[in-house]
Amino acid sequence: MKQSIHTIIIGAGAAGMMAAAVAGQRGAKVLLIDHAAKIGEKIRISGGGRCNFTNMALDGSDASPFFVSQNPRFVRPAMSAYTAQDFMHILRAHRVRYHEKHKGQLFCDDSAQNIIDVLRVECDKGHVQWRTSCSVTGVRMINDSLGMRFELDTSTAGTWRCANLIIATGGLSIPAIGASGFGYALAEQFKHTIVPTAPALVPLTFAEWSKNGWAELAGLSLPVRISTGEGKKIMSFDEDILFSHKGLTGPAVLQISSYWQANTSIALNIQSDAHLEQLLCDGKLGAKIQLDTALSQLLPNVPKRLLNHILTRPEFEKYAKHKWADVSDKVLRQLAQHFNHWTLMPSGTEGYKKAEVTRGGVSVKELHNGTMASKLCDGLYFVGEVVDVTGWLGGYNFQWAWSSGVAAGRAVSER
Ligand code: FAD
Repeated sequence: MKQSIHTIIIGAGAAGMMAAAVAGQRGAKVLLIDHAAKIGEKIRISGGGRCNFTNMALDGSDASPFFVSQNPRFVRPAMSAYTAQDFMHILRAHRVRYHEKHKGQLFCDDSAQNIIDVLRVECDKGHVQWRTSCSVTGVRMINDSLGMRFELDTSTAGTWRCANLIIATGGLSIPAIGASGFGYALAEQFKHTIVPTAPALVPLTFAEWSKNGWAELAGLSLPVRISTGEGKKIMSFDEDILFSHKGLTGPAVLQISSYWQANTSIALNIQSDAHLEQLLCDGKLGAKIQLDTALSQLLPNVPKRLLNHILTRPEFEKYAKHKWADVSDKVLRQLAQHFNHWTLMPSGTEGYKKAEVTRGGVSVKELHNGTMASKLCDGLYFVGEVVDVTGWLGGYNFQWAWSSGVAAGRAVSER
């Protein structure tokens, strides 16, 4: 038997549950379907188990600089209609305690499960129906006398008809907990353009990392300015990098990975003093100490292990134990350049297994920015990570999930 309902949402993650709660509480009859057995798994593992659920930097300011998309300004209407404060308001109403950790990032004091519980209760308030461990095996457009526009076959819940269909199936990262390409395939079925996808907020890897001895620095972390791109498109972040056995990670690297393009370089400024070249060239006059000693005195913030490793590079190795005064200005300039603008060529990323998010997705050009509705297919909506909107590290991706979910939830309830 075929059943009919006002709205079906596929994907019970952050965006899908938010859309369901809002639509349900505004009177729409909603069915939320997820192929995973447990809802909100990404919320559960996020932020080290404490979920960095939003960022204070979003409050009152233009949200678009914090997002990567073919058109970052697309996020503005949804983000200003449902803000970080709005989400905090719900958490306070549910007595969920939270704190600010770093650069406006808000985390639960207790556990990410608090957020899942809040969304579950909000969905229950809206009388949302659930089907978990249920796959959607086919979606067709229809036009019946009840105003239903879609017919869905499911693996365990039979065939359903709905007037509105919200796709909230997320991106491709962490396939082990339910990520799938379903949303992209369905978008293509309805003639939507998919901006090519790639892992983002992901560690970067480098050819011959172990062979060149860098893996020995695993565990070492330091603050840097990291950048990529050219001309007006240069993107930089001031954050920490962390050496790993496979390459570089840490907040600086995760942030830049969302902007990094294959076969291009990244640059690290590991010594913020812009006068290093001058200090090295002028300071050597009359100096009796060795170059390596001079460097560790001039660069107290650069970890000794890293300094020593840089000095084993072929271009510097033979000078490390020379008297500083005897090293030519040319070599000293090269050294300064290395600390101020160390250029590295990543060979790739650690992929979707390690990526926090997926860059690219359903093109925003074919969606209405205030409602997330498709411009190509009446009644179809895309919310959350499946859309070509990728936030910076720091709670921006969840705020996008909340705001885009609310936008679609409100829109369907008015139809
Ligand atoms: P998801 O939360 O991924 O939900 C998608 C849902 O769709 C899932 O339940 C999935 O099972 C379901 N689904 C997929 N395919 C199908 C299908 N074919 N049929 C039915 N259901 C399907 N962001 C932050 O802002 N702060 C953080 O602290 C943070 N930490 C993170 C840590 C990790 C390890 C990871 C991987 C991500 C983190 N993120 C963080 C990113 C954030 O989790 C996502 O951006 C966010 O969950 C996206 O929400 P969504 O609802 O669009 O997708």
